[in-house]
Amino acid sequence: MSMQRIECYCGRDEYYDRCCAPYIIGDKNAPNPEALMRSRYTAFCTQNADYLLETLYKNAREKESRRALVASFADTQWCSLKVIRSHYRNGQKHAEVEFAAFYLANNTVGQLHERSRFVFEDEKWFYTDGDILPPISLPRNEQCWCGSGRKLKKCHPD
Ligand SMILES: [Zn+2]
Ligand SMILES: [Zn+2]
Repeated sequence: MSMQRIECYCGRDEYYDRCCAPYIIGDKNAPNPEALMRSRYTAFCTQNADYLLETLYKNAREKESRRALVASFADTQWCSLKVIRSHYRNGQKHAEVEFAAFYLANNTVGQLHERSRFVFEDEKWFYTDGDILPPISLPRNEQCWCGSGRKLKKCHPD
């Protein structure tokens, strides 16, 4: 195993092993809904179906097909995540996080803009479901959707 440290997939300026990895490995529970959402995005990037199913609330888990989930991994290359709104106070049992996640599929860029709902039960946060929202347009001075770290206008300006 290489000991080279990689930046986390979720877009925080942090190493993977200090960001989403402890939740995905099972060393710790994600402490808040945004951390869970980020770690679920990272699990999509690293194709970890087990974690995605474990962090799904029980009623949603019954409906999710592992086979469909795994099949989706092959079709979709996740590029970057932008958290748009995340409100959470200590002691809250329900919360919402709004995000836009960018991906490549069939060589075109796609966007999942979602308001996700989360519930806290048995000392853990779970993802329940979400509303799909119309795509956002990124300001030209913001980081490019492709995850390069460069500004949009200097990277993929269309
Ligand atoms: Zn992360
Ligand atoms: Zn770009």
